[in-house]
Amino acid sequence: MRCSESGRNGRLWVLIAGRTIGGGSAINGMMYLRGQPGDFDRWRDEAGCTGWSFADVLPFFKRAEGSERGGGPWHGGAEPIRIPRGRSHFPIADAFLRTVAEAGLPLVDDLNADALEGFGFYDGAVLNGRRMTAGAHLRYAADRRALDLLTGARVIGLTALGDRIDGVRYLCGGRTLEAKATGEVILAAGCVHTAQLLLLSGIGPTPMLQALGVPILASWPTGVASARTCRTKSPIPCAMRSKRRSRPSNTDAWCRRCRRGRRSCWGARGCSQDCPVRLAA
Ligand SMILES: Cc1cc2nc3c(=O)[nH]c(=O)nc-3n(C[C@H](O)[C@H](O)[C@H](O)COP(=O)(O)OP(=O)(O)OC[C@H]3O[C@@H](n4cnc5c(N)ncnc54)[C@H](O)[C@@H]3O)c2cc1C
Repeated sequence: MRCSESGRNGRLWVLIAGRTIGGGSAINGMMYLRGQPGDFDRWRDEAGCTGWSFADVLPFFKRAEGSERGGGPWHGGAEPIRIPRGRSHFPIADAFLRTVAEAGLPLVDDLNADALEGFGFYDGAVLNGRRMTAGAHLRYAADRRALDLLTGARVIGLTALGDRIDGVRYLCGGRTLEAKATGEVILAAGCVHTAQLLLLSGIGPTPMLQALGVPILASWPTGVASARTCRTKSPIPCAMRSKRRSRPSNTDAWCRRCRRGRRSCWGARGCSQDCPVRLAA
């Protein structure tokens, strides 16, 4: 998907999204970094999102991880997603941190604790060369009678009963189907597609819906806020030489097409028959 961003002088950039079980966590950089506590608190204080302060969400972060750091005020120590602590893999990374310290900048051991700024090694959502995706939660929930997992289905809109959303409309096997909820409908399609589905369903800023010719279900000025706050990072590319290998010597262990380790292969559908990303798609 291509988007333009005002902060980049309107230049186009490609937005990659994980269209698979686990979503972005199946293709992302495996840096285990939570949002800043202050951002969550601002949602509560400025946007009226009761229940979304950092203190409110921290217990859920902790329940979702089994950190090598052990259980404590910032981390959960048990499964489901096992998170090894960040460590150095290249001498040049240690040298970089030494330089940072010499320059008087803060070194941080745990980037997911309360430090607002600093330099350090991030914990990784990768264990023994295997990516720890959000799909790992399924291992624990797969047997629940309340869970139906549908692959190859694309939600195209929300259904409403009066002013209440009561389900989703989706395409599957060439047919348009509906799934109805007796309780709540939770829309979690990522920062861009969540906003897109709201707009397609007629929920969003009136001028935007009118311009698109979408019948208005609810005029909601903040309907596309999640897409607006979605920002990509700006990497600073640099080259380095190391005598240490960064790839295993057995090239068969690498995906033939994407040239990355099969266990952490990119590409929403995966690249080869035995690529785990493909299997999950
Ligand atoms: C290339 C890349 C690298 C990243 N690196 C990191 C990193 O190192 N560390 C980090 O913390 N974060 C990283 N991120 C961000 C992180 O992956 C996301 O913040 C996270 O995945 C968001 O989770 P989510 O559940 O909100 O949405 P998503 O992970 O996007 O999940 C949305 C799900 O909804 C599905 N979906 C969307 N639309 C529809 C539809 N119409 N019908 C049916 N299903 C639909 C998608 O297929 C997907 O499964 C990275 C992201 C990318 C793309």
